[in-house]
This record gives sequence, C-alpha cells and structure tokens, in this order.
Amino acid sequence: MIIIMLGAPGAGKGTQAARIADAYHIPHISTGDIFRANIKGGTELGKKAKSYMDAGKLVPDELVCDLVADRIAQDDCKDGCILDGFPRTIPQAKSLDEAVAKMGTKVDFAVNVDVPDQVIIDRMSGRRACLKCGATYHVEYKKPKQEGICDVCGSELVLRDDDKPETVKTRLDVYHEQTQPLIDFYEKKGVLLTVDGTQPMDDVFAQIRKGLGD
Ligand code: ADP
Ligand code: ADP
Ligand code: ZN
Repeated sequence: MIIIMLGAPGAGKGTQAARIADAYHIPHISTGDIFRANIKGGTELGKKAKSYMDAGKLVPDELVCDLVADRIAQDDCKDGCILDGFPRTIPQAKSLDEAVAKMGTKVDFAVNVDVPDQVIIDRMSGRRACLKCGATYHVEYKKPKQEGICDVCGSELVLRDDDKPETVKTRLDVYHEQTQPLIDFYEKKGVLLTVDGTQPMDDVFAQIRKGLGD
C-alpha cells in the first residue's frame, strides 16, 4: 500500500505518518528528514537544499523527484511505504505517478490532514525536533519524558530554524500556492482521504485508520 501525506507544514503529517508506518509495517519516508540528514552530513545535496529550506521555499523538483523514485524502488518498500512531505508540487505528483507505474503499482491513498493556518502558527512555535532520528515533539501537546531530550534516541531537541514565525508565514504561502492544488489532483483520482487535523493526535489517527478501511 502506497500512502502519501498532504497538509500544511505543521498539520501533523509526520506525527500521523509515523503511526501509520508502525501500524502497517511499512517504511516512513520523509523528504524533509532526508534533506536535514544531508545538511547535517555536509553532502552536496545538503548544500544545495539548505538555502531553500532556510528561506522557507521548496527545494527544486529536480533535486527531489529522482531521490524519491530511487528510495521507493528499494527492497524495504516492496509492500508499500508512506511518503511524508512528497509530493509537494504538481510536477512532483506526476513524477511519482510515473515512478509507481514503472513499479506496476499506484498511490492507494492521499491522506489530507486539514488544519487552518491559525492553528498551524501556534503548533509550529511549540514543535521541537530531533535532528538525529526525525522524531518530533510539542512543548504542550507531546512532551518528551525528559525536557529537551529525544525519547527515542536520547539526542538534544531543537526548534528548527525554519519553524521560526517569519519563515512559517512564507512556508504557508508556498503551501497554498504550490501544494494545495494536489488536493484536487488526488480527489480526481478518487484516492483522497481528508481528516480533521485539529483534533487530538489519537483522534486524527482513528479517523485515518477508519478511512484506510481498518
Ligand atoms: P514540514 O514537516 O513542516 O511539512 P518538512 O520537514 O516536510 O516540513 O520540509 C522542510 C523543508 O524541506 C521544506 O520547507 C522544503 O524546503 C524542503 N522539502 C521537503 N520536502 C520537499 C519536497 N517534496 N519538495 C521540495 N522541497 C521539500
Ligand atoms: P508536519 O509533519 O505536518 O509538519 P508534525 O507532525 O511535525 O507536522 O506536527 C507539528 C507539531 O504539532 C509537532 O510539534 C507535533 O507534536 C504537533 N502536533 C501534531 N499533531 C497534533 C495534534 N493533532 N494536536 C496537537 N499538536 C499536534
Ligand atoms: Zn531522536
């Protein structure tokens, strides 16, 4: 089963993708995490992506499409995967269609986590991220066991540079302009599942499970 996550930055895509991955035993592939790992590792890709990410802009399609096509062709994705943060533009969605068609499969569900902008701004200022393992927390809604430390791997938690309010505003504009049209794109394919992302995390997950037919 191939599932993609749609939604504004901070809507809860990553939070829900991690739960789906656990429940269905499929890999959770986050393009944002891949870029952050490359920036941390000082790779060529990381160097190219950094300036776009810091500015709250999208990394160009040509830097992301092949990377995802290669990733989903790996062995651990043979029973499916969950894509979190990709596609984010219509050209990316078309490129994904081609990649999955080559593999003889298709996108089964596009889960749209629906959250209004005002709620996003509140959530982002409280998000804390582990740059080592990709786990995310919230200072109010999902506290780690020990303040400032990742429950999963013990690394220090940070406020991502691009989660500062000025950059969040740009990211929301970019979302409305370039990513929101994907809702229509997947609706027309008949695979869209929209859930109310303003509900508590457990309730959002219950809506998703129900929609996936569980
Ligand atoms: P969020 O979790 O807030 O939605 P991500 O971690 O998915 O953010 O992405 C962080 C940044 O990484 C984006 O603002 C963008 O610059 C870059 N990025 C991630 N995925 C993509 C993509 N599919 N296309 C272009 N840029 C991307
Ligand atoms: P995205 O991947 O869409 O950018 P995240 O999953 O990282 O979003 O969630 C953004 C922030 O909001 C995180 O700090 C997360 O812990 C918190 N969060 C996620 N879902 C909910 C929810 N349903 N209610 C309250 N806070 C949430
Ligand atoms: Zn961690």
